[in-house]
Amino acid sequence: MPRAYGVSTRQADTIVVWCSDHRLQKTFYDFVMRELGLENGQFFLVSVAGGGFALSEPTLKEDFDGAKWQIEFFLHHSNIKRIVLIGHADCTFYRVMGLQENQPRHYLLSAKRQIECTFPNPNIAVDLFYGEFCGGNMVFRPVHEPQLQRA
Ligand SMILES: [Zn+2]
Repeated sequence: MPRAYGVSTRQADTIVVWCSDHRLQKTFYDFVMRELGLENGQFFLVSVAGGGFALSEPTLKEDFDGAKWQIEFFLHHSNIKRIVLIGHADCTFYRVMGLQENQPRHYLLSAKRQIECTFPNPNIAVDLFYGEFCGGNMVFRPVHEPQLQRA
């Protein structure tokens, strides 16, 4: 007889987009659980190569469309209030796709604008986090829009 596994009955209202890098799956999950307060079953997961970076440029065609399609699906079928995009240092996708032209935070901000433009909804927050290595661990910091200079 096969073993039975529990199923969550919680309602999820958050989409988390993170990179499918095998080294960081537990790292991302621990961050999302401890710092964003989302337990397993409380968020929709989009795990794609590049994480938030995959959504930064429509020219990244298949990756961009694939991640966008998953977000669109969850937006249409659930009451989403928050989208969290995560990028990380030493990302193979980032390197292979030649995104070094700008700082990583630039691409996460670009991904946020792509989402806000594609799915305009003032009731959905889009939050960005960038993970950097610190010793053998990863530290996540929020990425914010640059402050406008006052004249
Ligand atoms: Zn990566």
